[in-house]
Amino acid sequence: MPVSRDDVLAWITAIANVLAENKNYLTELDAAIGDADHGANMDRGFKAVMNKMPEIQDKDIGTIFKTVGMTLLSTVGGAGGPLYGTLFLQAGMKTAGKMELSSEDWAEALEAALNGVIMRGKAEVGDKTMVDALTPALAAYKKAISEGQAFHLAMEQCAEAARKGMESTIPLVARKGRASYLGERSAGHQDPGATSSYLILNAAAQAWKNSH
Ligand code: ADP
Ligand code: MG
Repeated sequence: MPVSRDDVLAWITAIANVLAENKNYLTELDAAIGDADHGANMDRGFKAVMNKMPEIQDKDIGTIFKTVGMTLLSTVGGAGGPLYGTLFLQAGMKTAGKMELSSEDWAEALEAALNGVIMRGKAEVGDKTMVDALTPALAAYKKAISEGQAFHLAMEQCAEAARKGMESTIPLVARKGRASYLGERSAGHQDPGATSSYLILNAAAQAWKNSH
């Protein structure tokens, strides 16, 4: 199986690190079309997740993801907190009781995570949100796996599709969330949530690059 519990823990640690490194960058993006808190929100959330590490590191993957989701729900405000909270809670439901994940398990978890974000936020591709990064990322991953590609290569394509999806938000006019209040003036700026989603999936591709 490509993803062990330790791989999942390594991913979560990598997310906390990359969000801390990009805190100011995400805040600058949110300053342009929102309220300049996305970097601080995500960094605070994953710092709280890291504080939970001692109590979750011997649990199953479902419990680990659910704890991440609950922690984000309770520590990250705004739109991003409930949306990322839902993402990890849904991934946790799909992986309940599992100590390792097959490439199909990961596809199901990612799909449930994305569907949870869509159910909660009602955003579609093109609305200039995190959905613009997550949707093509899931599609690219599933395509690569269905073609029989190695897991780490499928994850690379997942991250690359998320990056392109993130960049695709630049010309878009926001139709959801705080940025939508700006109307046409939101065009020309990269969406902060799509950027954090790319960073999170790229952290998985990096953390799992030796997984087969
Ligand atoms: P807030 O907008 O409340 O300050 P954040 O700054 O933490 O929350 O997060 C903003 C990000 O949340 C946006 O860049 C966007 O990607 C995402 N977002 C906002 N509303 C929605 C929604 N309805 N569906 C999906 N994503 C959304
Ligand atoms: Mg904000």
